[in-house]
Amino acid sequence: MKITGVKSIMFTAGKQNIDMHWHEGTWKAENAHYTNNDTFNLVGKPVTLNVNGKQTNEEIKYVFVSNLDCMTFDENNHLIKNEIDGNMEMLNECKIHPQKKPYAVCQAGYGSAENIEKLIRENPNKFVGLKFHPMVFQQDANSAVYEPYMKIAEKYNLPCLFHSDKTGSYACPKKIYELAQKFPKVPVILAHLGAGTDHQDAINVLLDSIETGKANLYGDTSWVDCKNEEMPTLKNLIARLQQTKKGDQTKRLLYGSDAPLGEFGAPGKKVDGFYADNLSTLKTMISKNFHANAEKLSDNICFFNSKELFLDKNWAKNLDRTKFLTARSAGIILTAAALAGGLYGAIHFTLKNPNQNSETANIYTETKPQINLLV
Ligand SMILES: [Zn+2]
Repeated sequence: MKITGVKSIMFTAGKQNIDMHWHEGTWKAENAHYTNNDTFNLVGKPVTLNVNGKQTNEEIKYVFVSNLDCMTFDENNHLIKNEIDGNMEMLNECKIHPQKKPYAVCQAGYGSAENIEKLIRENPNKFVGLKFHPMVFQQDANSAVYEPYMKIAEKYNLPCLFHSDKTGSYACPKKIYELAQKFPKVPVILAHLGAGTDHQDAINVLLDSIETGKANLYGDTSWVDCKNEEMPTLKNLIARLQQTKKGDQTKRLLYGSDAPLGEFGAPGKKVDGFYADNLSTLKTMISKNFHANAEKLSDNICFFNSKELFLDKNWAKNLDRTKFLTARSAGIILTAAALAGGLYGAIHFTLKNPNQNSETANIYTETKPQINLLV
């Protein structure tokens, strides 16, 4: 028997992508309610891209979704859903569709960090991160209302996705940076790298955070250069991230779309094929400009950077190890201190009592371990 055409029946697994910025629910600005049906048609299925003239079949392996009902006020100025109901609704939907993973939306200024902690404690490892929208809630990103939420993010090692906007606005990148500096271990993502701007302020803040180590900032690609085939902003940003004083920091850039908003699916604005075109344009720009590194760079920005930050979280394991070692070292020091203290007591007693030599005893007094300083 002659076997022919083996190649044609073999599956070539497409490249996987993670879109870390998706939504569902009601968005008043677009007079739209996006359901699972509106968003789920791409996830887990092949998506045909055109990368630098070559057709590729790829897969959107995961999308990270936040519930717009938690970020929309109704006609009576009430939030459509509170932090518990809206986030649980999204979590339950993600259980049916495991390729979707939920953010917990934080209603800073209206809700409570205790709600978010309850959700995370009762549903361990289910929420990939926290989502903030300073514009919707009209709360300056550097205000104290965010801090209890950021403490939860720090405690549970959760990245925080912040809508970032124009300089001076509630969601000004500099204000987000100020907040992030108070929690330098928490990954804070500047969504849109300053929506509606030339992105330079957000990019300067991102690069400053890398060079100084004052905060742990990231950026996503949503709406950046989306109308410009050459993608000059992202091209320059990637080149600068490759050359920081801390070495290659392109891990700080994450592919996100913001679908189904705007051209992705908004009534009257939707452009068919916009999703695949948008991702194709990004990958084509990388392929054209970064030559030998292009494939790896593309895979990292569109998949591995988010996989590490939100799912594998080796960064958090390292932090936990540091916490463990610090606690362990503190334990060893305390034990040593207690032993030394006991020894001191014994020596002190022996020295003091036979000869009543206060001078010798004083020498020991000065070297007595300061246990209370270590606790
Ligand atoms: Zn968004």
